[in-house]
Amino acid sequence: MNERANKPATLRLRLTAVAEGIVRGGHPWVFADSVAQANRPGRTGELAVIYDRKDKFLAVGLYDADSPIRVRILHSGKPQMIDAAWWRSHLAAAVARREGLFDENTTGYRLIHGESDGWPGLVLDRYDTTLVLKIYTAAWLPRLDETLALLQGQLPWPRVVLRLSRNIQPLAGQCGYSDGLVLAGDQPPQAVLFRESGLQFEADVLRGQKTGFFLDQRENRRIVESLAAGRRVLNAFSFSGGFSVYAARGGAAAVTDLDISPHALAAAERNFDLNRDIAGVARCRRQSVQADAFEWLAGSREPFDLVVLDPPSMARSAAQREGAVAAYQRLSALGIARLDRGGILAAASCSAHVSAPDFFAAVHRAAAASGRRFSQLQTMQHPLDHPATFKEAEYLKMIYLRFE
Ligand code: SAH
Repeated sequence: MNERANKPATLRLRLTAVAEGIVRGGHPWVFADSVAQANRPGRTGELAVIYDRKDKFLAVGLYDADSPIRVRILHSGKPQMIDAAWWRSHLAAAVARREGLFDENTTGYRLIHGESDGWPGLVLDRYDTTLVLKIYTAAWLPRLDETLALLQGQLPWPRVVLRLSRNIQPLAGQCGYSDGLVLAGDQPPQAVLFRESGLQFEADVLRGQKTGFFLDQRENRRIVESLAAGRRVLNAFSFSGGFSVYAARGGAAAVTDLDISPHALAAAERNFDLNRDIAGVARCRRQSVQADAFEWLAGSREPFDLVVLDPPSMARSAAQREGAVAAYQRLSALGIARLDRGGILAAASCSAHVSAPDFFAAVHRAAAASGRRFSQLQTMQHPLDHPATFKEAEYLKMIYLRFE
């Protein structure tokens, strides 16, 4: 039988009028209830071509039969064939957006940041010679072979590790994929070493949170370094201690890593030790505290001159927004209470459901309620290797306040 006869017709969709406008405006998601018409049932991972009311090409994206986000847009505007050449230039474009951002002092960074790079539900991080490919939608599962070949054809780093978001792990298991599977190259050591701003760090690329390290906080770590000289620094929600190592190089008198996870604190200690050949790090006193940060901050009297608060996301859904805002305000108040005269609060949020203005306002309310005079030094949002091109993608924000 001829192959072509077996191949199903291209999946063609029409959307509700509202969704059509949203896609035309460049938004990368089409929700299940926005699909008004389909020429046949779709299969997860195949391309869906979206036509408008006048039967003109609107966009093409990845179909996902199992997700409320039914289509993730790859391309919209002029009609476009999504073929091997398109994928090659699509990868080249993501790589080109990072050109000139990093030199040999920074060998860990994000090469592809999902939707905002035109690769919906897919993240690619480089840690020295290891690539970590993390997927957040099952639509990539049938495409992994092709995607791996693409990466190997265009990028010079031989090892590729697959990471899977929790929600797609059962389905991935049925296709023979598991979280931490090495897709290419040899088995990595548990801790892959890389450089960031001339500092050495390890990342647990096989099991660690995200892809092993919080690459998105690099610019904030640099700011903390620039503010740290002579200060006693509390790094609350420290994870593997990135902020502390930078603070130490910046001349901090002492750093305290505070995290609920003993594994995170052990990694933080190793990361600190990896950099002991740097004068500031060698001179800096370091201690670890394993505790719930809210409880420890509420119970402690220890004074600090710089408090970093970088908690995990506090709102998993829009419904948790109010509670998250209240928690950020409470946490900020606890941090401010630990600050000595002239002390700095550096507070971050990574909740996409809490907007930057709402988060900054919550921290300001805590500052005002402290009764102390304070001034705002700076705010930060997304770094260039983690672009955010639509509202739902804007998760990261940080604010720096100095207190009298
Ligand atoms: N600042 C880090 C990233 C923080 S990730 C960096 O730049 O790398 C969030 C961390 O908070 C995780 O390590 C997690 O173990 C820790 N954590 C979660 N809940 C906590 C709690 N209630 N108290 C203290 N630490 C907590």
